[in-house]
Amino acid sequence: MMRLPKFDYRLPRTIAEAVKIMANSGPEGQFVAGGTDLYPNMKRRQQMPQTVISVMRLPELHQISGDANSGIRIGASVTLTEICEHPLINQDYPFLAQAARTISTPILRNMGTIGGNLLLDTRCNYYDQNYEWRKGINFCLKKDGDVCWVAPGSSKCWAVQSADLVPVMVAVGAKLRFVSTLGERLIEAAGLYNDDGIDYLHKRQDELLIDIQLPPTNGWRASYQKLRRRGAFDFPVLGVAAFVSVDRSKMVQQARIVLGGIAPSPVAVHEASQALIGGPLDDKHIETAAEAAYVKARPLDNTDFVYNWRKQMARQYTIRALTDLTFS
Ligand SMILES: Cc1cc2nc3c(=O)[nH]c(=O)nc-3n(C[C@H](O)[C@H](O)[C@H](O)COP(=O)(O)OP(=O)(O)OC[C@H]3O[C@@H](n4cnc5c(N)ncnc54)[C@H](O)[C@@H]3O)c2cc1C
Ligand code: SF4
Repeated sequence: MMRLPKFDYRLPRTIAEAVKIMANSGPEGQFVAGGTDLYPNMKRRQQMPQTVISVMRLPELHQISGDANSGIRIGASVTLTEICEHPLINQDYPFLAQAARTISTPILRNMGTIGGNLLLDTRCNYYDQNYEWRKGINFCLKKDGDVCWVAPGSSKCWAVQSADLVPVMVAVGAKLRFVSTLGERLIEAAGLYNDDGIDYLHKRQDELLIDIQLPPTNGWRASYQKLRRRGAFDFPVLGVAAFVSVDRSKMVQQARIVLGGIAPSPVAVHEASQALIGGPLDDKHIETAAEAAYVKARPLDNTDFVYNWRKQMARQYTIRALTDLTFS
């Protein structure tokens, strides 16, 4: 049985208290929300914080406010189940409930949060193993070792960004609000992710995610399509998020296709956007955009399924995501 290492557990009741505890804990502190990723990682000795600071008793982080006209704010500790079931989200931001429903299992969704999902550790076959397994291969660059088994000779870790909501938030232009003892900042989801499996976030360890802000739903739609081995529950080995807005004559005004599950950060396919903008969302334009996604997708052999097939699937899943966005 894998056991948790010893650590101090703190349960602050205010944001000010939470960021102060974090500042006093230094690099050994880490926030936890539902713990569905952090605690297994701690059991596997991948992450070993001395002080674990829960964000689940901070009231502001549980709120959902706003509407389709002004945009909505979703607190970082809102659970995935709450997102799946929330009437406003289902009515006006259905793509979000659609994507959240594909994450893990109903029980884990009761615990797991939107914030934890957006800040999830990257994944790799050589890393998501217990301590003894990793010791057996002399560890790897991401933790305790000095070689990357996926690309020996590479100084970079290629562990994969595998959180389902990440490509979705990047595609729709969400913003994330962080707070620390140094102040507050609001950043675009597109600017949060770094193309490095170790240093995968443009975020300081002491920054607390407060909420996620989605834009008003004025004429755009979004969809998420996920490839995974087990339909019941599994991490994505490819996720395609599509965002499209059209004008009055149904010509595409804005389009974004973002691929998840194939690289250390989400991959925006700008060529697909260019192929769609200015034309109708018909089969011909969708196929051109899907071809651009196929060309851009360069998955590595470090998660489930053969990478060549995952590359082929980038085309098919882009077609699915765009076909889902009918503007009748
Ligand atoms: C069996 C299993 C299957 C899974 N399947 C999927 C899947 O299909 N798709 C998927 O995307 N995920 C999956 N997950 C991962 C996980 O359950 C979800 O991503 C979940 O949303 C994580 O949320 P959490 O609140 O539990 O995160 P936690 O484990 O609490 O935290 C995750 C990370 O976020 C940080 N963090 C959390 N909240 C904050 C905050 N407010 N401010 C700053 N840092 C914060 C933590 O420090 C940690 O680094 C799976 C997990 C398991 C165990
Ligand atoms: S990509 Fe390389 S360094 Fe990163 S986790 Fe996998 S084996 Fe380790």
